[in-house]
Amino acid sequence: MIRVKDVHKSFGSFQVLKGMSMDVKKGEAICIIGPSGSGKSTLIRCMNALVDITEGSITVENQEVNDPNLDKLKLRRKVGMVFQQYNLFPHKTALQNVMMAPINVLKQDKKEVEERAHALLKKVRLTGKENNYPGELSGGQQQRVAIARSLAMRPDIMLFDEVTAALDPETVKEVLVTIRELAEEGMTCLLVTHEMKFARDVADHIYFTDKGVIVEHAPPEEFFDNPKDERTRTFLGQIL
Ligand code: ADP
Ligand code: MG
Repeated sequence: MIRVKDVHKSFGSFQVLKGMSMDVKKGEAICIIGPSGSGKSTLIRCMNALVDITEGSITVENQEVNDPNLDKLKLRRKVGMVFQQYNLFPHKTALQNVMMAPINVLKQDKKEVEERAHALLKKVRLTGKENNYPGELSGGQQQRVAIARSLAMRPDIMLFDEVTAALDPETVKEVLVTIRELAEEGMTCLLVTHEMKFARDVADHIYFTDKGVIVEHAPPEEFFDNPKDERTRTFLGQIL
């Protein structure tokens, strides 16, 4: 589904990604873990062409992301992304936020979009909040609206970049439950996260990044119980 091969990225003279490779199969849930500044966000932003790579190759469903002729909007419909900051439209209700892109971008039929938006809000457990504005919702509820909004485009892959990092502890769980259900239903998911228990439970595979390289990758049990690299051990020692 996604193949990352020896990807390099520099901002000016600063090398942020120094040759990262990764394979993601359909239906897999991949967690990317690593210290702040190690290039996690940059890597997943490259996957939906929010960041151009300097060297190497990324293909999504066999399409080269770095191809200058690539239709970036089409790619981003296939690869949904949810950020730490949910960026909902404050003057639109939850339902309207979920409906906007399918109507404005995909030009879909309003009635069908509305039905699907209701179903998506139900899926993220927000039935009853359809007509609330973002300011009337908790952080966790807003983040779930953001997830529903992304799903409204019917993506094949979902990227989550520290989506619970800004939330109150009591609302983190409800967002993780939603993501977990998505992963269990077979959505291909890439998650940058610091939620280690979640990563252990949900991930098929874990990648550990440090200073622009992938230091090691392994299935969760192996990664947490028997980390091979000293940098991984140090990191896990600090946070577990
Ligand atoms: P992480 O998500 O692992 O915390 P990032 O991918 O956000 O790391 O950033 C990796 C490094 O690249 C950081 O040192 C950051 O300051 C730098 N960086 C990220 N985006 C830019 C940018 N647009 N311009 C310059 N430097 C950037
Ligand atoms: Mg980041």
